[in-house]
Amino acid sequence: MQEERSIEKLIRMMCDFNPRSESDLVRLAYEFAQKAHAGQQRMNGEEYITHALGTGYHLASMKMDDATIIAGILHDVPDETQYTIEQIRHEFGKEIGELVDGVGRLGKLKYRGKERYAENLRKMFVSIARDIRIVIIKFADRMHNLETLDALPNDKQKRIAREVIDIYAPIADRLGIGKVKTRLEDLAFPYLDPEIYRTVSAMVIPATQEKEAYLARIHDRIAHVLTEHGLQGYAILSRVKCIYSTYIKMQKKCSESLDGIYDLVAARIIVPTIADCYAALGIIHQYWKPLKGRIKDYIAQPKPNNYRSLHTTVFCEDGEIVEFQIRTPEMDREARYGIAAHWHYDEAQKQSARMTQKLDWLNEILKLQERTQGNDDEYLSSLKLDIFQNRIFVFTPKGDVLNLPENSTVVDFAYHIHSDIGRRCSGAYVNDVHVSLSTILQSGDVVEIIVEKNRKKPSSDWLRFVKTHVAKSHIKSQLKEVRS
Ligand code: MN
Repeated sequence: MQEERSIEKLIRMMCDFNPRSESDLVRLAYEFAQKAHAGQQRMNGEEYITHALGTGYHLASMKMDDATIIAGILHDVPDETQYTIEQIRHEFGKEIGELVDGVGRLGKLKYRGKERYAENLRKMFVSIARDIRIVIIKFADRMHNLETLDALPNDKQKRIAREVIDIYAPIADRLGIGKVKTRLEDLAFPYLDPEIYRTVSAMVIPATQEKEAYLARIHDRIAHVLTEHGLQGYAILSRVKCIYSTYIKMQKKCSESLDGIYDLVAARIIVPTIADCYAALGIIHQYWKPLKGRIKDYIAQPKPNNYRSLHTTVFCEDGEIVEFQIRTPEMDREARYGIAAHWHYDEAQKQSARMTQKLDWLNEILKLQERTQGNDDEYLSSLKLDIFQNRIFVFTPKGDVLNLPENSTVVDFAYHIHSDIGRRCSGAYVNDVHVSLSTILQSGDVVEIIVEKNRKKPSSDWLRFVKTHVAKSHIKSQLKEVRS
């Protein structure tokens, strides 16, 4: 059963983590969305505003900044109501307008199955490079959709679940937002394959409960051992593995049982400093014998998504096998919130040049990914080439993506769709604004070409501004064609 949600509760949540939250503006956004969505219903019969509120809730639980939460509340207004993005810009300012606009654009991208995976991933990254908050709003939107997925027909449920598993969760993972990744996966899994979900959860849930009970029993023993060796200010928690990642692990092991999966529930030890992390590891190994090859130092060598922690698996009390994860509070926060932590109130204070830091951070991921390359992920390497070597990504109104060199114009775009579209183009709408043919496109633009049906040849003037080889050669040959 879901908790009762209200705008007042949401505002209280925001003020809890950021005393300077602009609660008036949040309330205004809520009233605006309420008015805009008035009379609309979700598939489950609830009023539409519950979706706006639910999205805002998820963003608040990620401790996002005011602008992101407000944009989350407003995210479906331009596409689902008679109110326009201009009105939102006018009422709530440029920053919120940009975020809402970006979410709308992401919403138009259709995932058409595995073979378009890489392409869609790129599209998502395009907007990440512009403002990662847009993607985070989309995560929150998806989480609420998954919570209310029961009301949808089967095939739609499956499609949405597939998209979440193939596109959204991996991106959340790469951005280091562990909290969102596991939440998305466990919400989607039951719809992806109900039968497998039933089988796996019937195995995992009781085993997890057993392990949790065991860890609760030995909690004091662990605490005693750590204290005895002078460790102070630590906390011992337990972390339960998400059902979907357990299933993936079973698949990797080609196993139909939980044999060899030791981290269904892990003991997580939070200690004040990095030195304490290594000290705790040493203490644990003194008491309990570690399993071979299972000591991982992700502090010295962080995962590509910046995850840091020490892991070890030991034969613990009564011979039970237990995984320990040791980290500082900062590492713990980063592991849960990842890049989203950049917008946390206290963080925001510290970071004035947020944008550049964000990009540095992404570049860092890409560099790390490159280093760990091999089997892992061919997408990210191609992505790196595409995004960072002077290429732009632009969309057709249907959400297909075109990858063009920087400074490409409307005419380049038209020729890349088809030489006949190029020949006949007479103008274009870029993001719904009428523009001239020589207009230079930017990453993320949605471009609709206006064709003049009876036009036979291109203009030789175009050769002065087109950028791509494809456009140039077509224009030249079409000009010749008509002359001869
Ligand atoms: Mn939505």
